[in-house]
Amino acid sequence: MLPTLLETGLSPAALAMAAFPLGLIIGSFLNVVILRFPEQLKNSWRRESQDFLGLPEEAAEPLSLAMPASRCPSCGVPIKPWHNIPVISYVFLRGKCTACSTPISIQYPLVELLSGLATAFIVYQFGLSLMAAYCLLFTWILIALTGIDYIDQLLPDQMTLPLLWLGLFANLNGTFVPLNEAVIGALAGYLSLWSVFWMFRLVTGKEGMGYGDFKLLAALGAWMGWQMLPLIIILSTFVGALVGVVGLLMKTREKQMPMAFGPFLAMAGWLALIWGDKIIGSYLSVFGL
Ligand SMILES: [Zn+2]
Repeated sequence: MLPTLLETGLSPAALAMAAFPLGLIIGSFLNVVILRFPEQLKNSWRRESQDFLGLPEEAAEPLSLAMPASRCPSCGVPIKPWHNIPVISYVFLRGKCTACSTPISIQYPLVELLSGLATAFIVYQFGLSLMAAYCLLFTWILIALTGIDYIDQLLPDQMTLPLLWLGLFANLNGTFVPLNEAVIGALAGYLSLWSVFWMFRLVTGKEGMGYGDFKLLAALGAWMGWQMLPLIIILSTFVGALVGVVGLLMKTREKQMPMAFGPFLAMAGWLALIWGDKIIGSYLSVFGL
């Protein structure tokens, strides 16, 4: 067990309660990342394409994570700071814009709550430790990736690759697994989905997933080592298939509609980082191993 960075004398429950609002605020920032980062990427791809093709550049509205300030996507009225409090404002405004009454996307409070709960849980589990800090970064990046992949079917390199390096860095002194297992994990993670992709393509002529998925699994392998990869693949495929079938039964999605795989990988990866050893341990104990 890693030494705890700060001995506060606070109980795990008290720490978790203090961490919850921080998680909500981070969640509200993650919402901005989820909505704006893909737009920024598309703007820059558009600029590069126009430049490459020698087309006149269309003036796009400058967009960054900080600018312009938050406003209603429907009527453009700026959102007042007191209407921008995580979760509380959504409930208080009954999920509607004050100016035009357009419903506010449920994504905002959901992402905020998810981030708040996950942050509180990690601090509860790991205290104020280096391990907790790494787990928090891991969690927040996964939430952003999940949102972006869910909305835009995109897992940006700008996020999957730093996640991979961060995992290798964390394991330089074996925070989660020994470094050699992390390096093999990254390689095996990438290659396993890469081979599935090519086999699937050779057999069906279709592309079942994207290169972003390979990089995300490589990143998860870098964090948890190669031993965790089978569990992550089984969990994500199982939940993905379940959601797909339920979606078809409830007719919320068409058979040919592409479904992002990243959110399932991210969820399975998160479960594996927190409980992987326990899940594998209890699975093996069923067989008396
Ligand atoms: Zn509005």
